[in-house]
Amino acid sequence: MICPRIEINLSKVKHNTSELKKMCHGKNIQLAGVTKVFCGIHKIAESMVDGGVDMLADSRIENLKKLENIKIPKLLLRLPMMRQAEDVVRYADISLNSELQTIERLSMEAIKQGKEHNILLMVDLGDLREGVWKSDVIHTVKEILKLEGIKLMGIGTNLTCYGGVIPSNKNLGELSELTTTIEKEFNIKLEIISGGNSSSLYLLEKGEMPEKINHLRLGEAIVLGRETAYGEAIKDTYQDAFTFVAEIIELKEKPSVPIGEIGMDAFGNTPTFEDKGIRKRAILAVGRQDVAVDNLNPIDKNMEIIGASSDHLIVDVTDAKEALKVGDEIKFHVKYGALLQLMTSEYIYKSIQ
Ligand SMILES: *Cc1c(COP(=O)(O)O)cnc(C)c1O
Repeated sequence: MICPRIEINLSKVKHNTSELKKMCHGKNIQLAGVTKVFCGIHKIAESMVDGGVDMLADSRIENLKKLENIKIPKLLLRLPMMRQAEDVVRYADISLNSELQTIERLSMEAIKQGKEHNILLMVDLGDLREGVWKSDVIHTVKEILKLEGIKLMGIGTNLTCYGGVIPSNKNLGELSELTTTIEKEFNIKLEIISGGNSSSLYLLEKGEMPEKINHLRLGEAIVLGRETAYGEAIKDTYQDAFTFVAEIIELKEKPSVPIGEIGMDAFGNTPTFEDKGIRKRAILAVGRQDVAVDNLNPIDKNMEIIGASSDHLIVDVTDAKEALKVGDEIKFHVKYGALLQLMTSEYIYKSIQ
C-alpha cells in the first residue's frame, strides 16, 4: 500500500450519514451533506447520498461541478463570486447569498439560461462571518422579490466559524422569528430555514432547536462523527471513517535533548526540550508541507508526536504497544484541519475502501 495515505472507509461514511439523517428527520430537519473537506470526491459524496442526505453542499463550485451527474439538489455554501455567476446557476440549484449585487447578477444569468435559481438569504446572528445584519433583512428581501429568475427559498445563518459563537435557542430563535416576520410582511412561504453546521447538532439532542429550523448543513459531523460546539463524539457514529497512515524511515534510540547550542528550527522558532533520557524515535516520511501535525493523533495512545519539519515527522515510540521496525506503518486519527489538508495535498494517496 502506498504511503503516506489517507484511508477512507465508505461504509462508515454511509453509516454516519444515516445516523445523522435519523436524528435530523426525526425533528423534521433536512440534511445537506457537506463535501468540501474531501474536495468533492465522487465516491465519498455517493456514500452520503446512499446514507440518505437530502442534498449535497460544497463551498466551491468546482466541487459541485464534479458531482453534476448525481441527481440530487446541490447547494453552494460560500457566497458566489460575481465572476462565477454562470457556473453557479449551471451547477448549483441553491446558493447562500448576502449581497444584492451578486443576486442581481445571478438573476441575469438565470434568465439567460432559462432557469430559476434558488437562494437562501444569510443572516449574521453575531458570528461575524457572512450574512446581512438583522436590521437589513426586510429591505433586502423586498429587493430580492423584485428579481426575475430568482426564488427566495429561505433564510439561513452560520455560526461557530469566525467568531466561535455557539448556536443557542436564543440566536437561532431570532432566525425563527425573522421567518415569521418575513412571511407575514410579504405574504410568502419560506421553505428552508437553515440553522447552521455541525455546531448546531447539540441543540437537537437537548431538544432545544427552535421549531422553525428545518435544515442543517453537516460536514464534520458526518465525516468525523463529531459535533463542533463542544467537540463531543456523536452517539452511534464512527470517528475513524478517515485515518492517516505514514511509513517509518528511521527508527533509533537517541537522547531527548539536542546536543550543541540551540538556535532556530526549520521554521524560525527556538525550540525547548524536556530531558527524558534516551528515547526510541521513529521518523516518518510526512511533514508540515502535507499537514499541520498538531491535528494528528497516533491511534496507539502510547506514542507521542514530538516534532516535525517540512518533510519529517518525529514520533516517540518508546512505549509503543507493538514492536516496530523500519518500513512499518503508523496510523493516526485526524482532526478536521488535518483532514482538510491531507485531502488537498497531492502528496497524500487517497485510499478509498
Ligand atoms: C463548511 C460549512 C458548513 C459545514 O460545516 P461543518 O462544521 O463541517 O459541519 C456549513 N455551512 C457553511 C456555510 C460552511 O461553509
